[in-house]
Amino acid sequence: MERDATWVGTSWKMNKGPSAAAEAADRLARLSFPATIQPFVIPPFTSLKDVCDNLSGSRVIVGAQNMHWEDSGAWTGEISPVMISECGAELVEIGHSERRTHFGETDWIVNLKVHSALHHGLRPLVCIGDTAKEYSHDVTLETLARQLKIALHGVSEQNIPRVLIAYEPVWAIGAGGRPADVPFIDKAHNHLRSVLINLAGLEAGSAVRLLYGGSVTQDNAASYSRLQNVNGVFVGRAAWNVDHFHALAEGV
Ligand code: PGA
Repeated sequence: MERDATWVGTSWKMNKGPSAAAEAADRLARLSFPATIQPFVIPPFTSLKDVCDNLSGSRVIVGAQNMHWEDSGAWTGEISPVMISECGAELVEIGHSERRTHFGETDWIVNLKVHSALHHGLRPLVCIGDTAKEYSHDVTLETLARQLKIALHGVSEQNIPRVLIAYEPVWAIGAGGRPADVPFIDKAHNHLRSVLINLAGLEAGSAVRLLYGGSVTQDNAASYSRLQNVNGVFVGRAAWNVDHFHALAEGV
């Protein structure tokens, strides 16, 4: 079912401390989602374990916002994939544009993390996206292909379908962003699909779930999710409130 489902997820980013996150997870666990939807939430690390506990047995998948690629060691301030799995999370977000921009995360680091996540049984949710400058110079498709190929370099055909990809134009994310035009997203996602098929073959390349993110709202979510190669939406601000998240998921 999850293969055909429309994925609808939100990262709470640096919002909701342990009590607010646990309360939100508790509320989420009591909501029912349409069978066609695969909901997921990505809380901050300090709430990961509690959110996993509160959502265990529900249909909501839980993820982490980042991880180190090593299992353990002298990496002050970092969190390993082993710790994330132990909390009960199934998903890990890798390469969000805020991490690339503010913390210097490169495509090569993303690739290390993808391998490590898969090795530890976590599903990587790899975020890729063009900057405003790349968009205005009409090199979006080249940028996305490059990011995607490096992220998946060396990943086996068998493992490729376990990776989720979110195309999030940097210029569409956050308060200063503007939502992308639907025909543009159609074109970008069709291109991503053909890159994936070239890379992994028809079966594995078609099985990868491609999400769109960047200023998604209740009003525009369905216009993206009904596109052939958009298999879901990844939402920030418009889904931080649990009831808004639920309404958005019901509307796609
Ligand atoms: P936004 O964030 O929906 O608030 O634009 C999207 C994201 O960063 O994933």
